[in-house]
Amino acid sequence: MPQKLGIVFFPAYDWSIGPDHPEREERLLYTQDQLREEGLFDFPGIVESRPQVATDEDVLAAHIQPPGVERLAGLPHLISAGGAITCGRLVMSGECLKSFALVRPPGHHAMRVVHGGRGFCNINNEAIMIERLRREYGVRRVAIVDTDCHHGDGTQDIYWHDPDTLFISLHQDGRTLYPGSGFAGELGGPKALGSTINIPLPPETGDDGFLLAANMVVRPILDEWKPELVVNSAGQDNHFTDPITNMRITARGYGALSDLINPDIAVLEGGYAIKGALPYLNLAIAMSMAGLDWTRVEEPLPSPAQLATSDRNMEYIRHLCGEIHKLRRKAVPERSGSRLEGRWWVRERSIYYDTHTLESEGGYGGAIHEHQREELFDCPNCPGLLVIHTRSEVSPPSVHYVLPHQPCEACLRLKEDLSKT
Ligand SMILES: [Zn+2]
Ligand SMILES: [Zn+2]
Repeated sequence: MPQKLGIVFFPAYDWSIGPDHPEREERLLYTQDQLREEGLFDFPGIVESRPQVATDEDVLAAHIQPPGVERLAGLPHLISAGGAITCGRLVMSGECLKSFALVRPPGHHAMRVVHGGRGFCNINNEAIMIERLRREYGVRRVAIVDTDCHHGDGTQDIYWHDPDTLFISLHQDGRTLYPGSGFAGELGGPKALGSTINIPLPPETGDDGFLLAANMVVRPILDEWKPELVVNSAGQDNHFTDPITNMRITARGYGALSDLINPDIAVLEGGYAIKGALPYLNLAIAMSMAGLDWTRVEEPLPSPAQLATSDRNMEYIRHLCGEIHKLRRKAVPERSGSRLEGRWWVRERSIYYDTHTLESEGGYGGAIHEHQREELFDCPNCPGLLVIHTRSEVSPPSVHYVLPHQPCEACLRLKEDLSKT
């Protein structure tokens, strides 16, 4: 009989981006202590596993890294992604019903192409795991529900053109928070319309507002879409005490949200109230995933009197959720952000990286600007070959070819022909 929940810890307690950074060394140590103190591992069916180390092959199945994997992913990054892979394999092998990767550094801002770090992320843990499970177990339809307070723009980018991966992000409205994207009109690429869903919530949304959006949008779309695997990008920075965001979720709100999403695998993303909130939020999610009663989990801090979402914001969220369903039904390729040039859908973008590569590569100062031109073959038989032209201050111009995970013969040949020229 499978175990109920597998937990993988990787606190990376001797690594950080820099002193005083919110994503710091001791960030997960309080969670580790708390879960042990609460006796979580005394419940039958909750087991702990050691993370494996992701390989370069794992990283390059999800990413294009012009500066080279060794310059973008240090050992902590590879173990964090490896912890996610271990969690995925626990579930796919039937050893555990569910699993939770309590790992850092996080990954959901890392896009397909990586020239440097974006929002504390160099490589995308969830995408690296999913691509490994596709190769190893033949998984096809996957849903990712990103509950981090920041828009999961990296994961969205990696799966933008993949109609077999549903990406849903609930986050604080991009007009008020990094990375400034994730609006309701962002619905996926021209050949994958409706497989990306964004729910930008107003600042000061509480448990009731999140649950309303999850009930109105997340649950019905998951039910309709019928994924083989549901992955939760579990960011805990919506807590009312989080130092870098403006939301009002409680530990019990996260428990209820996790019940509703019912993920097979959760992978930790953000969460920066590391002592007073993060351990309790992780505990509530772990209990929800193990089928235990989380309703008595409570953070030690006194809750401010007014944590409920205001009536005005509840009304706004109700209206927004209705609009999202309408936009999804009416989505057309011409409004996906790409324009058709002959047989190719073209999109040009500038992408900003806030941190340089690894410390061993010259430190974290400075910013990187990438220019990217993306061309998607308008293939009648498959999601189409993707050609990416990219350059930045740290990497000369280069061209890359990305095949869909089940490419047609014509796209395979097209890639062969184009890479020869
Ligand atoms: Zn976040
Ligand atoms: Zn094709």
